[in-house]
Amino acid sequence: MLEVSNIDTFYGKMQALWGVSLRVDEAEIVALIGANGAGKTTLLNTISGLLRPASGSVEFLGKRIDGLTPHSIVELGISHVPEGRKLFADMSVRENLEMGAYTSGAWKNKAETREQVYQIFPALKEREKQLARTLSGGEQQMLAMGRGLMAKPKLCMFDEPSFGLAPMLLLEVFQVIEALREQGITILLIEQNVRRTLEISDRAYVLENGRVVLEGESKELLQEELVKKAYLGL
Ligand code: ATP
Repeated sequence: MLEVSNIDTFYGKMQALWGVSLRVDEAEIVALIGANGAGKTTLLNTISGLLRPASGSVEFLGKRIDGLTPHSIVELGISHVPEGRKLFADMSVRENLEMGAYTSGAWKNKAETREQVYQIFPALKEREKQLARTLSGGEQQMLAMGRGLMAKPKLCMFDEPSFGLAPMLLLEVFQVIEALREQGITILLIEQNVRRTLEISDRAYVLENGRVVLEGESKELLQEELVKKAYLGL
C-alpha cells in the first residue's frame, strides 16, 4: 500500500532522514520506534507531504505521492493524526470533526462518518457541543483520532496517540487502534510505549539518528537484544 524508498529529508542544511525505506501492506499495523529526535515525526511529515524529501520516493497504492500537496495526499486516502493533537481549541467537538472531512468524498458522507466515529468514541457524542479546549487530555486525543477518521482514510498515521495519557486511557487507545484495523484501516503508528506497540503491531522499524537500524516482525523484535536493552529496559 505504502512504499517509502531511500528518502533523505532535510531541515535547511540539517539532514534528518538518511536513506530511509519502509513498506506498509494493506491491513497491517506497522510501528515506528525510536528515541526522541530519531526522525519518526519527520518521516510521517514526509509521507503526508508536509515536508518534501530531497531524494528518494514515496508511493501510495502504486502512485508516486512525494511532491503532491498535503491536501491531495489526504484525498488519496492517507490521514495523519499529528503529535500534540493540533485541535481547533475554540471550535466544538462536532466542528473539529467536520474539519477532518474536508476532502470531496468525505464531505458528502460526513453525517454518516460522524456517527461511526461516535460509535468508536461515545464520549465525543456526549460532548458534541463542547469546545475542544474544555475536554480532558484523553478526550482531546480521541477527538484528534476521530477527526483523522473523518477523511475516510485507507491508511491512518498516528503520532504518539497515547502521549501524556493515564494508563487506563492508554489501554483504550491501543484497543481503538486494533478495532480500526479490524474495520480494514491500515495503520502506521509512532509510539513510545514500545512493548505494547510491538504486541499489537505486525511489523516494526527502529529509527536511530534518522536511519532505520532494525526492521522486522514485531514478535521477533521483542526478542532482539537492541530492542530489549534500549526500549524495553531489560
Ligand atoms: P520526537 O519523539 O521527539 O518527536 P522524532 O523521532 O519524531 O522525535 P523528529 O521530530 O522527526 O524526531 O526530529 C528529527 C530531527 O530533526 C531532530 O534532530 C530534530 O531536532 C530535528 N527537527 C525536527 N523538526 C525540526 C524543525 N522544524 N526544524 C529543524 N529541525 C527539526
